[in-house]
Amino acid sequence: MKLFFYIFGTLAVLLISGALLLQNPAVQDTLVQREITQRMSSTPDDLFSEDALRVTLCGSAAPMPIKDRAAACVMVIAGGKFYIVDTGNRSTNNLGLWRIPADRVGAVLLTHFHSDHMGDLGEFNMMTWAQGRNAPLDVYGPVGVNQVVEGFTLAYALDSSYRTAHHGDDYLNPTIGQMIPKEIRLQGDSATVLDDGDLKVTMFAVNHAPIHPAVGYRFDYKGRSVVISGDTTKTETTIKYSKDADILFHEGLSRNIVKQMEVESGNTGNSQLEKIMFDIQDYHTSPVEAAEVANEANVKELVLYHLVPAPPNKVAEWVFMRGVKDVRSSGVTVGYDGLTYILPINSKDIYQEDLNDR
Ligand SMILES: [Zn+2]
Ligand SMILES: [Zn+2]
Repeated sequence: MKLFFYIFGTLAVLLISGALLLQNPAVQDTLVQREITQRMSSTPDDLFSEDALRVTLCGSAAPMPIKDRAAACVMVIAGGKFYIVDTGNRSTNNLGLWRIPADRVGAVLLTHFHSDHMGDLGEFNMMTWAQGRNAPLDVYGPVGVNQVVEGFTLAYALDSSYRTAHHGDDYLNPTIGQMIPKEIRLQGDSATVLDDGDLKVTMFAVNHAPIHPAVGYRFDYKGRSVVISGDTTKTETTIKYSKDADILFHEGLSRNIVKQMEVESGNTGNSQLEKIMFDIQDYHTSPVEAAEVANEANVKELVLYHLVPAPPNKVAEWVFMRGVKDVRSSGVTVGYDGLTYILPINSKDIYQEDLNDR
């Protein structure tokens, strides 16, 4: 009993002195300085070394509200540059937290023009410009991208003018702050977006009917490959263009859970939500179907993203993934913001890391 009071007393003294110490301005300044140094340090260059293809999930969710996840965004790093497939809302915040350097922007590529895939386009352009991007931003997409870029440009025109006036042309040059739309027209079911000999980016049609156009992208870099489905049902073109890829990032919607949400919306008299929950069930892919796509395409690793809805806990994740193991017993991951894969060239290895840990 004496020992208990001794330990308890010591702990109490330590806690009280710690709390008092935190009230000291010099101690506060030291702690804040440490945080600033950590947050403003540049991202380790190894992320951009040209000996591997790397890919990070910068947004794993869809339109439904969820904590700690941005809407659709996949960052592919190749040849010293990074490419953003879809700028879902809040994804720019993730890139900022991970200290992705703006002068390494390759391009943005949009899969289609639902807001959960492009909500942050204006922010991404503004933030990378403000952080020192050294050229206008190329924005690739299917037919419609010109209109989207024009709209964001108009919405941000006043803000752009404020920043140039405030900081000066030498720091925020309006020419560099521009977005350049690059409309790609499919020839048949695909088109080459970029090809510099090392990196080849292919756009392919998917099926997100009644939304047209909607596309996915395949990145091939020095023998390694990553495919991003965008929004689609289970479709032959995704299988065709994912053939033997190292990693397939495929969207996933749990019809069980969305059906329950539809019923619950009806029960609570929210007919608007009930209608939307009903309508969205037929233009996405279930996790089981995504596993079938991965198997039929012979991909090594399947990562589910654009999670509808993103499971907030392990039990919800089990329901979301129900039946997947029967189709594909390994090589399936439920994506999260920060999940990163490293694919070294001249190798078949796949390594994983979490960018939030850097
Ligand atoms: Zn969509
Ligand atoms: Zn979507």
